[in-house]
Amino acid sequence: MAIERTLTIIKPDAVKAGHVGDIIKIFEASRLKIVAARLVSLSKKEAEGFYAVHRGKGFFESLTTFMSSGPAIPMVLEGENAIASLREVMGATNPANAAPGTIRKLYASSIESNCVHGSDAPETAAFEIGYFFPGVDLV
Ligand code: ADP
Ligand code: MG
Repeated sequence: MAIERTLTIIKPDAVKAGHVGDIIKIFEASRLKIVAARLVSLSKKEAEGFYAVHRGKGFFESLTTFMSSGPAIPMVLEGENAIASLREVMGATNPANAAPGTIRKLYASSIESNCVHGSDAPETAAFEIGYFFPGVDLV
């Protein structure tokens, strides 16, 4: 297994509901180390740029409105197999289908307001890390 980096976002619903600490606790317990973090209020355009792969889908308009609705916390996480590990602790996109103990099962309220983002492959991780942390020399 390799040491990888991946991008997560604690989404506006989780920040609003006060679950930032709960979610970071799960990351840390899963050996996902925070190597960069910001607090951002995305514009609609920035949210659209981040989710460009979903442009044209039925939920794109609503998703990018949600993602620009309040503060969110993008972070770079590092660890062994970080990309797959993060996806595992996040749980399924729809919290109704998420496994017990996962972030989305514990805290998410709908398939859209599902608390966290996680990169799904090395290529998307590279793009997404660069989107929020351009030119930053990560520790
Ligand atoms: P994931 O975040 O699990 O990788 P996707 O990449 O498929 O899921 O979708 C990106 C985000 O778009 C989801 O996390 C969720 O916020 C939203 N989303 C996905 N599918 C739907 C849907 N059918 N209806 C509303 N929002 C959705
Ligand atoms: Mg995705």
